Amino acid sequence: MKVIVVGSSHGGYETVRGILAAQPDTEIQWYEKGDFLSFLSCGMQLYLEGAVKDVNTVSYATPAGMQAQGVHVFVNSEISKVDPASHSVHVIDHATGDERDETYDKLVLSVGAVPFDLPVPGHDLANIYAMRGRDWAIKLKAKTVDPSVKNVVIIGSGYIGIEAAEVFAKAGMHVTVIDLLPRLLSLYLDQEFTDILTKTMANHGIYAAVGQGIKAYEGVDGHVTKVVTDQGEYPADLVVTAAGIRPATGFLKNVIDLDDHGLIKINDRLQTSDSDIYAVGDATLVPFAPTGKDNRIALATNARRQGRIAAKNLLGENVPMPAVSGSSALSVFDYHFASTGVKEGTADKLGVKTASVLVTDTIRPKFVSEDAGNTKVWFKLTFDPTDGRVLGAQIMSKYDVTANINAISVAIQAKLTVADLAYTDFFFQPGFDRPWNIINVAAQKAAATLN
Ligand code: FAD
Repeated sequence: MKVIVVGSSHGGYETVRGILAAQPDTEIQWYEKGDFLSFLSCGMQLYLEGAVKDVNTVSYATPAGMQAQGVHVFVNSEISKVDPASHSVHVIDHATGDERDETYDKLVLSVGAVPFDLPVPGHDLANIYAMRGRDWAIKLKAKTVDPSVKNVVIIGSGYIGIEAAEVFAKAGMHVTVIDLLPRLLSLYLDQEFTDILTKTMANHGIYAAVGQGIKAYEGVDGHVTKVVTDQGEYPADLVVTAAGIRPATGFLKNVIDLDDHGLIKINDRLQTSDSDIYAVGDATLVPFAPTGKDNRIALATNARRQGRIAAKNLLGENVPMPAVSGSSALSVFDYHFASTGVKEGTADKLGVKTASVLVTDTIRPKFVSEDAGNTKVWFKLTFDPTDGRVLGAQIMSKYDVTANINAISVAIQAKLTVADLAYTDFFFQPGFDRPWNIINVAAQKAAATLN
């Protein structure tokens, strides 16, 4: 069997790995239009802040390593057309200018997405950068040490925008984060959490310009100098856009079924409208466990799961994609937070009714001193007010307790209720936590509201 995999980021890489693990003698051709195989944007902040020294190490695969496993790797090679009838793709080699057709038995598309370019006047000025991919990583890195950059404006306050804001604040620049939504990180955390983080960021020189729409970028001599919103003007030597993404699926229009946003329609076996063509990653939707409906959650974790499932199915298994909870974590200066599932702030949009309890405590018993690492933790558990089914949770502390959120993700997937979690067995040791884990405490409080 000959499989063509398009795209070398998380989804493509995991598909290739999955095929190699199950049937290593499969003929695999792996195409990447960029000049670098398998760059992982998840590592960008670590590289920009200097924790990772070499940008070329922010990857899981090298062409040589994959070729040694029998994979035919093609970088600088764009798939510009797909013809399902003849089971063929058109390849443009950007290094040589050569073009050719290749046939496949099965095709896997992990073409991902590109940063959304806000269509406002001045969007083509110089020094407007994006936070995705190796090329932008290299350009952004240069700006972190550019003495002419004093003011940085970040567009978008999702986790990518906040990562960018922290990078430039740590580099000593004055940072403004602009968002149309009324709170920073509002799709990840409710207000009890974002109030604390917004204050922390302000203490580190990051100003939140929220509830504002971008009207224009203005510049001098072709270089951006200012961002104009419907409420003010912000000086900018550098703009970093992190205001969402668009699927890179233009070449698939009228080839396979796409939705109104250009996302590839797939079934639960990850097949597109053509059963020999599979699609995974940011260009698709994933099944969202709290609602049972498909949702757009652009995370590497989802792309990885899809890649593994697609590999199994194209090799002849019949495995459905499991529903995911949309779990993610981030550090913002001293704080570490994680969240999963539904938040109060996202419930309306998702069409679910929720109730929540918030528990604030110390992570260890009171007799453990602050000097010994005892510090405050905030935990919010969100559930269905009619039957107590667990729908989501958020946790934050200066100590890293983010892994608790993985337990809630399991609870969501297993359709557990707050009554189930109230007495679930979690360990206790005063060097780590309290006799009752904070999940038990919150679930007991939540269960009491249902009686
Ligand atoms: P993409 O990563 O978008 O990659 C698609 C690849 O396909 C690209 O290399 C592209 O060049 C190539 N391609 C596209 N079209 C073609 C074509 N026609 N022919 C050939 N090649 C093509 N997720 C997490 O879970 N945890 C994190 O901590 C995290 N941090 C992130 C930090 C940043 C700054 C960013 C930007 C994202 C982060 N993500 C994180 C999200 C994660 O990176 C994405 O969800 C993931 O990369 C999606 O993988 P993908 O395979 O769908 O596509």
